[in-house]
Amino acid sequence: MRRTLYTEEHEAFRKAFRAFIDHAAVPHVEAWEEAGTVDREFIRAAGEGGFLGFEFAPEFGGLGISDFRYNAVMTEEVVASGMVGDLFSMQNDIIVPYLRDLATPEQQQRWLPGFTRGECVTALGLTEPGAGSDLAAIKSTGRREGDHLVLNGQKTFITSGATCDLAIVLVRTGERDGRGTTFVAVENGTPGFERGRPMHKIGRKAQDTAELFFTDCRVPVTNIIGEPGRGFGCAIANLPRERLSIAVAAIASARQALELGLDHVRQRDAFGGPLAQLQSVRMQIAEMHTDIAVLGEYVDRCVLALNDGELTAAEAAGAKYKATELQWEVLDRVLQLFGGYGYIEEYPIARMWRDARIQRIYGGSNEVMKDLVGRAVVG
Ligand SMILES: Cc1cc2nc3c(=O)[nH]c(=O)nc-3n(C[C@H](O)[C@H](O)[C@H](O)COP(=O)(O)OP(=O)(O)OC[C@H]3O[C@@H](n4cnc5c(N)ncnc54)[C@H](O)[C@@H]3O)c2cc1C
Repeated sequence: MRRTLYTEEHEAFRKAFRAFIDHAAVPHVEAWEEAGTVDREFIRAAGEGGFLGFEFAPEFGGLGISDFRYNAVMTEEVVASGMVGDLFSMQNDIIVPYLRDLATPEQQQRWLPGFTRGECVTALGLTEPGAGSDLAAIKSTGRREGDHLVLNGQKTFITSGATCDLAIVLVRTGERDGRGTTFVAVENGTPGFERGRPMHKIGRKAQDTAELFFTDCRVPVTNIIGEPGRGFGCAIANLPRERLSIAVAAIASARQALELGLDHVRQRDAFGGPLAQLQSVRMQIAEMHTDIAVLGEYVDRCVLALNDGELTAAEAAGAKYKATELQWEVLDRVLQLFGGYGYIEEYPIARMWRDARIQRIYGGSNEVMKDLVGRAVVG
């Protein structure tokens, strides 16, 4: 069946974006993995190319286009190119709604032009050492003192935490019987804001992940994002989009892995012929192919539902957990089909496998996703 999600415009955009990353990113992947982060020049070039913040209004350097199919195209091409990195998904899929929908016009004036130029790398700080799945348990505080919030606390596992120019963090501000939480944007260089060194991860090595520390960090109240005391609600509203982004990446990765696996089993001989001639191998290929096709359709439908403002939290959670479980299953099976070569770093499947492990954990662990779906279904 023909995939119907994209139009000619999306495909033209795909070509342009792929040409950009093939030229500006792919040759540097090894170096960025060693450095633990992508190059700033690349981020600026992505801005110049119009690949950052295109949903923002033209006055801020965007194109005013809100169509998640473009985000999905970018995710698919990042995966297919082997680039690996969360720059585009972090900036475009996760942060954009906070700055587009919740930031004041003055804040937009301050931060969006830098964002679209690739000069303002952003991070989102929700998780704390004692509060990941249970976000309501966050302990970082923002105490109001005149025109400032005084931040104290710690965030952990923050994507782009070590290199970001602007961190949007969730802190407890105490409104609503002490339960209130608020998002506040903290600029790099603000006294009392420190970042830890990049954490050593088992995969996604070109993407820095770090702790953030706040010690009597004074941030003007004009940096509050969204309504004070309603931070938790803002996070809940934006999480379906983040989870869909993860699901899109998962399906793209499973497709890419299956392609690699197919090339391999057609070429690799054992017992007098290519592996592909073994019935058990063909059955595995059939299962993976069909599972990807079926689930891929569901994820495509979720993309359209998001565009129409109809994607529910449970639908996004279902897409996230199911797609990342399938991704893991496919990558593991394809790696097995590669035999010993699958365990060797030079083979893309090895890298894809280790880079994929986090997909079932971040954005809300898959167990938490199932709980969310279950509660929605049971009622
Ligand atoms: C590479 C990386 C990047 C990340 N980027 C960011 C980021 O940019 N910003 C950010 O805020 N966070 C980020 N995170 C944090 C991530 O979202 C959390 O790690 C994740 O939500 C799980 O929280 P936790 O690690 O505290 O695990 P815990 O909450 O301690 O959960 C551990 C495990 O317990 C089980 N579990 C927990 N609750 C339930 C439940 N209700 N039902 C059943 N089982 C349950 C699950 O198996 C879960 O995996 C990142 C993490 C990593 C590793």
